[in-house]
Amino acid sequence: MDTAPTETRTIPAAKKVGMVSLGCPKALVDSERILTKLRADGYAMSADYSGADVVLVNTCGFLDSAKEESLAAIGEAIAENGRVIVTGCMGNEAEQIRERFPAVLAVTGAHQYEDVVEAVHEAAPPSQGPFVDLIPARADLADVKLTPRHYGYLKISEGCNHSCAFCIIPQLRGKLASRRVDAVLREAEKLVAAGTRELLVISQDTSAYGVDIKHEAREWKGREVRAHMTDLAQALGQLKTPDGQRPWVRLHYVYPYPHVDAVIPLMAEGLVTPYLDIPFQHAAPSVLKAMKRPANEAKVLERLQRWREICPDIAVRSSFVVGFPGETEADFEYLLEWLDEAQLDRVGGFRFETVEGAAANDLPGQVPEELKEERYARLMEKTEAISAAKLAAKVGRTIPVIIDEVGEADEDGDIGATGRSEADAPEIDGNVFLRDVSAEMRPGDIVNVLIEDADAHDLFGVPAE
Ligand code: SF4
Repeated sequence: MDTAPTETRTIPAAKKVGMVSLGCPKALVDSERILTKLRADGYAMSADYSGADVVLVNTCGFLDSAKEESLAAIGEAIAENGRVIVTGCMGNEAEQIRERFPAVLAVTGAHQYEDVVEAVHEAAPPSQGPFVDLIPARADLADVKLTPRHYGYLKISEGCNHSCAFCIIPQLRGKLASRRVDAVLREAEKLVAAGTRELLVISQDTSAYGVDIKHEAREWKGREVRAHMTDLAQALGQLKTPDGQRPWVRLHYVYPYPHVDAVIPLMAEGLVTPYLDIPFQHAAPSVLKAMKRPANEAKVLERLQRWREICPDIAVRSSFVVGFPGETEADFEYLLEWLDEAQLDRVGGFRFETVEGAAANDLPGQVPEELKEERYARLMEKTEAISAAKLAAKVGRTIPVIIDEVGEADEDGDIGATGRSEADAPEIDGNVFLRDVSAEMRPGDIVNVLIEDADAHDLFGVPAE
């Protein structure tokens, strides 16, 4: 009996995309979205330049130094791979990029997800095939995350309605555009179901969430939830991990508008992580005015005190710019004294830098570089002393710590781990270094830790159980 020859069909290999993601967590979320879409289109990810059919560079154009870093990354990707697509904040300066790197295949701006995906399709058409084509249809295909599985960024809005003199974000990213609250909550629920133990809420201005859509309410789990920071925080605080725990919910880029007071009781109740990231940038009234900062009001110190009365464990992180045009010695000393009173837990310092297109570039009273350096050193000295004292006060206490990394056993069989307390956001704040952890410990575990020692930035301890 004749048998028909078996037809051997080759499954075409998926095209591979490499990604270089620069800039802030918001840009990281954009990279995740682009990669999620590309994976749904049948692409695979490449961890190195050589294995990629095309390389995406997601750029940051916030400061001139960040632009230089972005241009260097584009140059490296061209030298190493040659097939490069540029996206992100610097995408708005397509001419400059093309002039310097004529070999770039395409340049698209921030949030033009469809454009960048289309450019990838053109540069490396997706493999066609019966099996590859099935991949996008799978509903359970997990979103691509560039952060470890146990924490994830949740972007609630894009753009900003302010016009701070040193910032070009509104030019780059447009006016505030808030996401629907039910879409944000669905994404958060999905992340938590997939193993995320810590949600990092980000935007350019988290306190302003929903202003542009008039705080439009949507139904969520049988009740109405408004697109408003307080409602959102409350609803996020109700989520549960698969093992029945509450995920940590960390609020970033919160401006101290009056309604921020309403989230402090949620922190005291344990629904939201007692942590606020408030970019104050300065304290001296004349500098804040020149900076055109939002929510620039005199009573912040009193409010900080009230927040601490309601939620004694609240950690406040902030960032400050020294050497802003017109900043006098008296303004700078005002800032140092304000910091003495404010007793912030975590502080990031920056020397003022010009950014092409920012209003502050033309302000009178530019501060010489040496003076900026000197003030920066004084700011850091002050804030480190405050941080060291605050961390020393935690020695002897038992506090919850989320584990980021577990090490190998040393020659004595001791295993160490690195984690963070509720006062530490990933990548920007400090760590808790643990000794003698169990071999069963995993990243994402939340454990009680007895704090044994502290320095100016980090804590050291041992699991309490
Ligand atoms: S609030 Fe100010 S610094 Fe922040 S994005 Fe808006 S304009 Fe820029």
